[in-house]
Amino acid sequence: MKLQLDIKPLKEWLPDYDKPLLIAGPCSAESETQMLATANQIVSLFPKSIFRAGIWKPRTRPGTFEGIGDIGLQWMQKVKQQTGLLTATEVATADHVDKCLKAGIDILWIGARTSVNPFSVQEIADALKGVDIPVFVKNPIYPDLQLWAGALERVNNAGIKKIAAVHRGFHSYDNGPFRNSPKWELAIELKTACPELPIICDPSHIGGTPELIPYLAQKAMDMDMDGLMIETHVNPSVALSDAKQQITPFALNEIIGNLQIRSASIQNSELQTKLDELRSVIHKLDNDLLEVLAKRMAVSRQIGEHKRDNHITILQVTHWKNLIENSIANGNQLGLPKDFIKAIYQLIHDESIRRQTDVMNSIGKK
Ligand code: PEP
Ligand code: MN
Repeated sequence: MKLQLDIKPLKEWLPDYDKPLLIAGPCSAESETQMLATANQIVSLFPKSIFRAGIWKPRTRPGTFEGIGDIGLQWMQKVKQQTGLLTATEVATADHVDKCLKAGIDILWIGARTSVNPFSVQEIADALKGVDIPVFVKNPIYPDLQLWAGALERVNNAGIKKIAAVHRGFHSYDNGPFRNSPKWELAIELKTACPELPIICDPSHIGGTPELIPYLAQKAMDMDMDGLMIETHVNPSVALSDAKQQITPFALNEIIGNLQIRSASIQNSELQTKLDELRSVIHKLDNDLLEVLAKRMAVSRQIGEHKRDNHITILQVTHWKNLIENSIANGNQLGLPKDFIKAIYQLIHDESIRRQTDVMNSIGKK
Protein backbone atom coordinates (compact mmCIF):
# COMPACT_ATOMS: atom_id res chain seq x y z
CA MET A 1 0.00 0.00 0.00
CA LYS A 2 1.15 3.55 -0.75
CA LEU A 3 0.63 6.32 1.80
CA GLN A 4 2.31 9.68 1.60
CA LEU A 5 1.56 12.08 4.41
CA ASP A 6 3.11 15.46 5.02
CA ILE A 7 3.56 15.26 8.77
CA LYS A 8 5.66 16.76 11.53
CA PRO A 9 7.73 14.37 13.68
CA LEU A 10 6.19 13.67 17.10
CA LYS A 11 9.25 15.10 18.88
CA GLU A 12 8.56 18.49 17.26
CA TRP A 13 5.06 18.86 18.63
CA LEU A 14 5.44 16.90 21.86
CA PRO A 15 9.07 17.69 22.74
CA ASP A 16 8.74 16.42 26.33
CA TYR A 17 7.42 12.99 25.60
CA ASP A 18 9.29 9.81 26.50
CA LYS A 19 8.52 6.52 24.87
CA PRO A 20 5.84 5.36 25.35
CA LEU A 21 3.77 8.48 24.87
CA LEU A 22 0.99 7.83 27.35
CA ILE A 23 -2.63 8.90 26.94
CA ALA A 24 -4.58 8.03 30.07
CA GLY A 25 -7.98 8.95 31.43
CA PRO A 26 -11.52 7.64 31.59
CA CYS A 27 -13.52 6.24 28.72
CA SER A 28 -16.09 8.96 29.47
CA ALA A 29 -16.22 12.22 31.37
CA GLU A 30 -18.87 11.49 34.02
CA SER A 31 -18.61 14.20 36.67
CA GLU A 32 -16.25 16.95 37.67
CA THR A 33 -15.22 14.96 40.75
CA GLN A 34 -14.45 11.82 38.75
CA MET A 35 -12.44 13.83 36.19
CA LEU A 36 -10.37 15.77 38.72
CA ALA A 37 -9.74 12.79 41.00
CA THR A 38 -8.60 10.66 38.04
CA ALA A 39 -6.48 13.44 36.53
CA ASN A 40 -4.79 14.29 39.85
CA GLN A 41 -3.73 10.69 40.35
CA ILE A 42 -2.58 10.43 36.74
CA VAL A 43 -0.47 13.59 36.89
CA SER A 44 1.21 12.51 40.11
CA LEU A 45 2.27 9.23 38.48
CA PHE A 46 2.76 10.36 34.87
CA PRO A 47 3.48 14.08 34.70
CA LYS A 48 4.17 13.95 30.94
CA SER A 49 1.03 12.08 29.96
CA ILE A 50 -1.98 13.34 28.03
CA PHE A 51 -5.38 13.26 29.73
CA ARG A 52 -8.18 11.66 27.70
CA ALA A 53 -11.95 11.58 28.28
CA GLY A 54 -14.86 10.99 25.91
CA ILE A 55 -17.46 13.77 26.00
CA TRP A 56 -19.78 12.52 23.25
CA LYS A 57 -19.91 8.74 23.18
CA PRO A 58 -20.93 6.77 20.09
CA ARG A 59 -22.96 3.91 21.57
CA THR A 60 -24.48 0.99 19.73
CA ARG A 61 -27.92 1.29 21.37
CA PRO A 62 -29.74 4.45 22.43
CA GLY A 63 -30.69 4.60 26.06
CA THR A 64 -27.20 3.71 27.28
CA PHE A 65 -24.90 6.48 28.48
CA GLU A 66 -24.17 8.58 25.39
CA GLY A 67 -21.68 10.92 27.01
CA ILE A 68 -22.09 13.86 29.32
CA GLY A 69 -22.04 16.37 26.46
CA ASP A 70 -20.85 19.97 26.36
CA ILE A 71 -20.47 20.45 30.13
CA GLY A 72 -17.64 17.90 30.05
CA LEU A 73 -15.57 20.47 28.14
CA GLN A 74 -15.59 22.73 31.21
CA TRP A 75 -14.33 19.83 33.34
CA MET A 76 -11.56 19.26 30.79
CA GLN A 77 -10.58 22.91 31.19
CA LYS A 78 -10.48 22.44 34.98
CA VAL A 79 -8.28 19.36 34.59
CA LYS A 80 -5.90 21.36 32.44
CA GLN A 81 -5.81 24.27 34.90
CA GLN A 82 -5.28 22.06 37.95
CA THR A 83 -2.84 19.52 36.54
CA GLY A 84 -1.25 21.18 33.52
CA LEU A 85 -1.86 17.99 31.52
CA LEU A 86 -2.67 18.25 27.83
CA THR A 87 -6.26 17.21 27.14
CA ALA A 88 -7.66 14.99 24.38
CA THR A 89 -11.15 13.99 23.35
CA GLU A 90 -13.08 12.30 20.55
CA VAL A 91 -14.83 14.32 17.84
CA ALA A 92 -17.39 12.86 15.47
CA THR A 93 -18.93 15.98 13.87
CA ALA A 94 -17.94 19.49 12.79
CA ASP A 95 -19.93 20.82 15.76
CA HIS A 96 -17.78 18.76 18.17
CA VAL A 97 -14.66 20.18 16.52
CA ASP A 98 -15.88 23.78 16.90
CA LYS A 99 -16.80 23.24 20.55
CA CYS A 100 -13.44 21.61 21.35
CA LEU A 101 -11.50 24.39 19.65
CA LYS A 102 -13.46 27.01 21.60
CA ALA A 103 -12.84 25.11 24.85
CA GLY A 104 -9.08 24.88 24.19
CA ILE A 105 -8.87 21.07 24.02
CA ASP A 106 -5.29 20.26 23.00
CA ILE A 107 -5.66 17.10 20.93
CA LEU A 108 -8.61 15.63 19.03
CA TRP A 109 -9.16 12.06 17.97
CA ILE A 110 -11.46 10.48 15.44
CA GLY A 111 -13.04 7.30 16.81
CA ALA A 112 -13.33 3.88 15.23
CA ARG A 113 -17.03 4.29 14.44
CA THR A 114 -16.32 7.56 12.65
CA SER A 115 -13.17 6.64 10.72
CA VAL A 116 -15.28 4.05 8.83
CA ASN A 117 -17.26 6.84 7.20
CA PRO A 118 -15.48 9.06 4.64
CA PHE A 119 -18.33 11.63 4.76
CA SER A 120 -17.93 12.08 8.51
CA VAL A 121 -14.15 12.18 8.30
CA GLN A 122 -14.36 14.79 5.53
CA GLU A 123 -16.79 16.88 7.58
CA ILE A 124 -14.31 16.85 10.47
CA ALA A 125 -11.38 17.58 8.14
CA ASP A 126 -13.26 20.56 6.66
CA ALA A 127 -13.91 21.92 10.15
CA LEU A 128 -10.18 21.64 10.86
CA LYS A 129 -9.01 23.65 7.84
CA GLY A 130 -6.65 26.42 8.93
CA VAL A 131 -6.39 25.04 12.48
CA ASP A 132 -3.13 23.84 14.00
CA ILE A 133 -4.11 21.04 16.37
CA PRO A 134 -2.87 17.45 16.68
CA VAL A 135 -5.32 14.82 15.47
CA PHE A 136 -5.24 11.09 16.19
CA VAL A 137 -7.05 8.77 13.83
CA LYS A 138 -8.27 5.50 15.29
CA ASN A 139 -8.45 2.55 12.96
CA PRO A 140 -11.92 1.91 11.53
CA ILE A 141 -13.79 -0.96 13.17
CA TYR A 142 -13.56 -2.96 9.92
CA PRO A 143 -10.16 -4.44 9.12
CA ASP A 144 -9.76 -2.24 6.05
CA LEU A 145 -6.36 -0.60 5.80
CA GLN A 146 -7.38 1.63 2.88
CA LEU A 147 -10.16 3.15 4.98
CA TRP A 148 -7.71 3.93 7.80
CA ALA A 149 -5.19 5.39 5.33
CA GLY A 150 -7.98 7.38 3.65
CA ALA A 151 -9.04 8.96 6.94
CA LEU A 152 -5.42 9.92 7.68
CA GLU A 153 -5.13 11.44 4.21
CA ARG A 154 -8.35 13.45 4.57
CA VAL A 155 -7.10 14.94 7.85
CA ASN A 156 -3.67 15.62 6.37
CA ASN A 157 -5.17 17.18 3.22
CA ALA A 158 -6.97 19.65 5.48
CA GLY A 159 -3.52 20.92 6.51
CA ILE A 160 -3.15 19.01 9.80
CA LYS A 161 0.47 17.94 10.14
CA LYS A 162 0.49 16.76 13.73
CA ILE A 163 -1.00 13.36 13.15
CA ALA A 164 -0.84 9.94 14.79
CA ALA A 165 -2.69 6.70 14.11
CA VAL A 166 -4.32 4.80 16.96
CA HIS A 167 -4.47 1.01 16.70
CA ARG A 168 -7.53 -0.13 18.70
CA GLY A 169 -8.22 -3.48 17.08
CA PHE A 170 -10.81 -4.57 14.53
CA HIS A 171 -14.17 -6.21 14.45
CA SER A 172 -13.93 -9.86 13.50
CA TYR A 173 -16.17 -12.90 13.95
CA ASP A 174 -13.29 -14.65 15.59
CA ASN A 175 -11.84 -12.26 18.15
CA GLY A 176 -10.17 -14.99 20.20
CA PRO A 177 -9.62 -13.71 23.73
CA PHE A 178 -9.89 -10.07 22.60
CA ARG A 179 -12.78 -7.61 22.47
CA ASN A 180 -11.41 -6.46 19.12
CA SER A 181 -9.04 -8.55 17.08
CA PRO A 182 -5.59 -6.84 17.12
CA LYS A 183 -4.59 -7.81 13.56
CA TRP A 184 -1.10 -6.45 14.23
CA GLU A 185 -0.24 -7.04 10.58
CA LEU A 186 -2.47 -4.12 9.54
CA ALA A 187 -0.71 -1.71 11.91
CA ILE A 188 2.63 -3.01 10.66
CA GLU A 189 1.58 -2.50 7.04
CA LEU A 190 0.53 1.06 7.86
CA LYS A 191 3.89 1.72 9.53
CA THR A 192 5.72 0.18 6.58
CA ALA A 193 3.79 2.36 4.12
CA CYS A 194 4.47 5.50 6.16
CA PRO A 195 7.36 4.98 8.62
CA GLU A 196 7.22 8.57 9.89
CA LEU A 197 3.62 8.18 11.10
CA PRO A 198 3.51 7.70 14.89
CA ILE A 199 1.35 4.78 15.99
CA ILE A 200 -0.31 4.63 19.38
CA CYS A 201 -1.75 1.35 20.59
CA ASP A 202 -5.02 1.26 22.56
CA PRO A 203 -4.80 -1.98 24.55
CA SER A 204 -8.03 -1.14 26.43
CA HIS A 205 -10.28 -1.44 23.40
CA ILE A 206 -8.32 -4.34 21.91
CA GLY A 207 -8.33 -6.37 25.11
CA GLY A 208 -11.66 -5.35 26.62
CA THR A 209 -10.39 -6.55 30.00
CA PRO A 210 -7.62 -5.37 32.36
CA GLU A 211 -5.89 -8.78 32.39
CA LEU A 212 -4.88 -8.43 28.73
CA ILE A 213 -3.51 -4.89 28.98
CA PRO A 214 0.05 -5.75 30.15
CA TYR A 215 0.48 -8.30 27.35
CA LEU A 216 -0.92 -5.98 24.68
CA ALA A 217 1.06 -2.95 25.88
CA GLN A 218 4.29 -4.96 25.82
CA LYS A 219 3.52 -6.33 22.39
CA ALA A 220 2.87 -2.79 21.10
CA MET A 221 6.27 -1.71 22.44
CA ASP A 222 7.92 -4.72 20.82
CA MET A 223 6.26 -3.71 17.53
CA ASP A 224 8.06 -0.36 18.00
CA MET A 225 4.84 1.60 18.43
CA ASP A 226 5.24 5.09 19.85
CA GLY A 227 2.59 5.30 22.51
CA LEU A 228 -0.25 3.79 24.49
CA MET A 229 -3.80 4.99 25.08
CA ILE A 230 -5.16 3.26 28.17
CA GLU A 231 -8.53 3.89 29.79
CA THR A 232 -8.02 4.89 33.40
CA HIS A 233 -10.67 5.65 36.03
CA VAL A 234 -10.45 6.34 39.78
CA ASN A 235 -13.13 3.74 40.37
CA PRO A 236 -13.54 1.50 37.31
CA SER A 237 -16.31 -0.65 38.77
CA VAL A 238 -18.78 2.27 38.75
CA ALA A 239 -17.74 3.67 35.34
CA LEU A 240 -20.67 4.64 33.11
CA SER A 241 -19.04 3.18 29.99
CA ASP A 242 -16.47 0.44 29.37
CA ALA A 243 -16.40 -0.41 33.09
CA LYS A 244 -15.04 -3.88 32.30
CA GLN A 245 -11.82 -2.64 30.73
CA GLN A 246 -10.83 0.45 32.73
CA ILE A 247 -8.05 0.36 35.30
CA THR A 248 -7.02 2.64 38.15
CA PRO A 249 -4.08 5.02 37.76
CA PHE A 250 -2.16 2.82 40.24
CA ALA A 251 -2.74 -0.31 38.17
CA LEU A 252 -1.59 1.67 35.13
CA ASN A 253 1.56 2.65 36.99
CA GLU A 254 2.38 -0.98 37.61
CA ILE A 255 1.83 -1.92 33.97
CA ILE A 256 3.96 0.92 32.63
CA GLY A 257 6.66 0.24 35.24
CA ASN A 258 6.92 -3.39 34.07
CA LEU A 259 7.22 -2.59 30.38
CA GLN A 260 10.46 -3.47 28.65
CA ILE A 261 11.28 -0.75 26.17
CA ARG A 262 13.66 -2.16 23.61
CA SER A 263 15.49 -0.10 21.06
CA ALA A 264 14.66 -0.35 17.35
CA SER A 265 18.09 0.90 16.34
CA ILE A 266 21.35 -0.54 17.55
CA GLN A 267 24.11 1.74 18.74
CA ASN A 268 26.54 -0.97 19.81
CA SER A 269 28.51 -2.05 16.72
CA GLU A 270 29.34 -5.55 18.05
CA LEU A 271 25.62 -6.23 18.49
CA GLN A 272 25.02 -4.86 15.01
CA THR A 273 27.63 -7.20 13.48
CA LYS A 274 26.14 -10.22 15.22
CA LEU A 275 22.68 -9.22 14.06
CA ASP A 276 23.89 -8.73 10.48
CA GLU A 277 25.43 -12.21 10.52
CA LEU A 278 22.25 -13.82 11.78
CA ARG A 279 20.20 -11.89 9.24
CA SER A 280 22.35 -13.12 6.39
CA VAL A 281 21.84 -16.72 7.58
CA ILE A 282 18.07 -16.11 7.61
CA HIS A 283 18.28 -14.54 4.17
CA LYS A 284 19.99 -17.62 2.77
CA LEU A 285 17.52 -19.97 4.46
CA ASP A 286 14.61 -17.92 3.11
CA ASN A 287 16.00 -18.28 -0.41
CA ASP A 288 16.45 -22.02 0.14
CA LEU A 289 12.83 -22.20 1.32
CA LEU A 290 11.61 -20.46 -1.83
CA GLU A 291 13.64 -22.78 -4.05
CA VAL A 292 12.30 -25.85 -2.27
CA LEU A 293 8.74 -24.53 -2.62
CA ALA A 294 9.24 -23.89 -6.33
CA LYS A 295 10.59 -27.43 -6.79
CA ARG A 296 7.68 -28.86 -4.83
CA MET A 297 5.18 -27.03 -7.03
CA ALA A 298 6.90 -28.31 -10.18
CA VAL A 299 6.45 -31.86 -8.88
CA SER A 300 2.79 -31.10 -8.10
CA ARG A 301 2.40 -30.13 -11.71
CA GLN A 302 3.86 -33.43 -12.86
CA ILE A 303 1.46 -35.26 -10.56
CA GLY A 304 -1.37 -33.22 -12.08
CA GLU A 305 -0.34 -34.32 -15.56
CA HIS A 306 -0.19 -37.90 -14.46
CA LYS A 307 -3.67 -37.69 -12.89
CA ARG A 308 -5.10 -35.98 -15.95
CA ASP A 309 -3.70 -38.56 -18.31
CA ASN A 310 -5.04 -41.38 -16.19
CA HIS A 311 -8.42 -39.82 -15.29
CA ILE A 312 -7.79 -39.61 -11.55
CA THR A 313 -9.41 -36.89 -9.39
CA ILE A 314 -7.15 -34.11 -8.13
CA LEU A 315 -8.10 -34.39 -4.49
CA GLN A 316 -7.64 -37.68 -2.76
CA VAL A 317 -8.73 -36.98 0.76
CA THR A 318 -7.09 -39.92 2.49
CA HIS A 319 -3.77 -39.15 0.89
CA TRP A 320 -4.00 -35.49 1.95
CA LYS A 321 -4.90 -36.47 5.52
CA ASN A 322 -1.92 -38.81 5.75
CA LEU A 323 0.40 -36.23 4.32
CA ILE A 324 -0.58 -33.55 6.80
CA GLU A 325 -0.50 -35.95 9.76
CA ASN A 326 2.98 -37.09 8.80
CA SER A 327 4.18 -33.55 8.37
CA ILE A 328 2.75 -32.52 11.74
CA ALA A 329 4.46 -35.47 13.42
CA ASN A 330 7.79 -34.79 11.69
CA GLY A 331 7.54 -31.06 12.37
CA ASN A 332 6.80 -31.74 16.04
CA GLN A 333 10.02 -33.67 16.35
CA LEU A 334 11.79 -30.63 14.96
CA GLY A 335 10.12 -28.38 17.54
CA LEU A 336 7.55 -26.81 15.18
CA PRO A 337 4.06 -26.33 16.65
CA LYS A 338 1.11 -28.16 15.11
CA ASP A 339 -0.90 -25.03 14.21
CA PHE A 340 2.07 -23.54 12.41
CA ILE A 341 2.62 -26.62 10.27
CA LYS A 342 -1.10 -26.97 9.57
CA ALA A 343 -1.36 -23.36 8.39
CA ILE A 344 1.68 -23.66 6.14
CA TYR A 345 0.52 -26.95 4.64
CA GLN A 346 -2.93 -25.56 4.00
CA LEU A 347 -1.37 -22.84 1.85
CA ILE A 348 0.94 -25.29 0.11
CA HIS A 349 -1.94 -27.65 -0.55
CA ASP A 350 -4.16 -24.86 -1.93
CA GLU A 351 -1.45 -23.79 -4.35
CA SER A 352 -0.73 -27.35 -5.31
CA ILE A 353 -4.43 -27.98 -6.10
CA ARG A 354 -4.54 -24.75 -8.08
CA ARG A 355 -1.61 -25.92 -10.20
CA GLN A 356 -3.13 -29.34 -10.74
CA THR A 357 -6.43 -27.74 -11.74
CA ASP A 358 -4.57 -25.66 -14.34
CA VAL A 359 -3.03 -28.85 -15.69
CA MET A 360 -6.41 -30.62 -15.79
CA ASN A 361 -7.86 -27.78 -17.80
CA SER A 362 -5.01 -27.90 -20.28
CA ILE A 363 -4.98 -30.34 -23.13
CA GLY A 364 -2.83 -33.43 -22.68
CA LYS A 365 -2.66 -36.97 -23.85
CA LYS A 366 -6.18 -38.30 -24.57
C1 PEP B 1 -12.93 5.43 23.24
O1 PEP B 1 -11.72 5.70 23.07
O2 PEP B 1 -13.52 5.53 24.31
C2 PEP B 1 -13.66 4.90 22.09
C3 PEP B 1 -14.95 5.08 21.91
O3 PEP B 1 -12.86 4.20 21.30
P1 PEP B 1 -13.10 3.53 19.86
O4 PEP B 1 -13.44 4.63 18.93
O5 PEP B 1 -11.76 2.94 19.60
O6 PEP B 1 -14.16 2.48 20.03
MN1 MN C 1 -14.08 3.36 25.78
